[in-house]
Amino acid sequence: MTEGPLLAGVELGGTKVLALLATGPNEVVAECRIPTTTPDETIGAIKEFFSTEAARGNAASAGGIGTFGPVELRNEHPSYGRIGSTPKPGWGGIDVLEPIRDAIGAPTAIDTDVSCAALGERRWGAASGLDSFVYLTVGTGVGGGAIIDGTPVHGLVHPEMGHVAVQRQPDDRYDGRCPFHGDCLEGMASGPAIAERWGSQPENLTGPDLTKAVEIEAWYLACGLRSVVYLLAPQRIVIGGGVSHLPGLVGAVRVHLIEMLSDYPGLDEHRSSDFVVPAHLGEMAGPLGTLVLAQRVLTEK
Ligand code: ZN
Repeated sequence: MTEGPLLAGVELGGTKVLALLATGPNEVVAECRIPTTTPDETIGAIKEFFSTEAARGNAASAGGIGTFGPVELRNEHPSYGRIGSTPKPGWGGIDVLEPIRDAIGAPTAIDTDVSCAALGERRWGAASGLDSFVYLTVGTGVGGGAIIDGTPVHGLVHPEMGHVAVQRQPDDRYDGRCPFHGDCLEGMASGPAIAERWGSQPENLTGPDLTKAVEIEAWYLACGLRSVVYLLAPQRIVIGGGVSHLPGLVGAVRVHLIEMLSDYPGLDEHRSSDFVVPAHLGEMAGPLGTLVLAQRVLTEK
């Protein structure tokens, strides 16, 4: 059953790219996974995917790109669609919009990977029916997409929730590993931070180390989310990313966050079990969200 026009989506992640042509989650016409290496190689492979599919008659009506950041999203800015200052070698200043839009061959919108994941979860997942919520991803980095009144929040830049300051746990001697801030939320709670603390990848932790790692992780995430709750007033917080699968983590975040809010401003909703929830769409949240972005291009035309 056809759900609508054929749409192109590209999720450009820090380690891999997922490009797809689909009308929606139930009708994916073609998809391709590409490792994120150099800009030339990576963007070249994306272009090849779309040109091959176009030659087969699979031409999209519109496209959406969800990219790792920072990325310039002010469409009147000369650097619109370009990656900003990043520790990712070779990617600083790279235009990711124009070459991919040309390859798609149709009007194409761009947003962050986390905003796209938020749009995907809102349409088909854990934030269904909500107008104002936050999607937080915890993996190689920590990032958040804020949807307010149904629209991803942008200003001078997109939100960078992973870099909010967090209060150190008493007795914690870990330096943190954010190259910009050291012990910001990402510096203390990303997957690589867990690996560095414990000398083991998060998914390989077991027994008391796993219990303690989950406890520390939940504490720092709740610290960051306390600021998010007070600054953005989300109706829900959806947590995704590889680290979110650590057993018991999302529930522990919920418990710590309730403690840290100290019953202020005293809403039952903040104490509810559906205020902090795991993502539903897994690694497909971002790619499916790029289709939502593409659909928006069509409705805005
Ligand atoms: Zn930072």
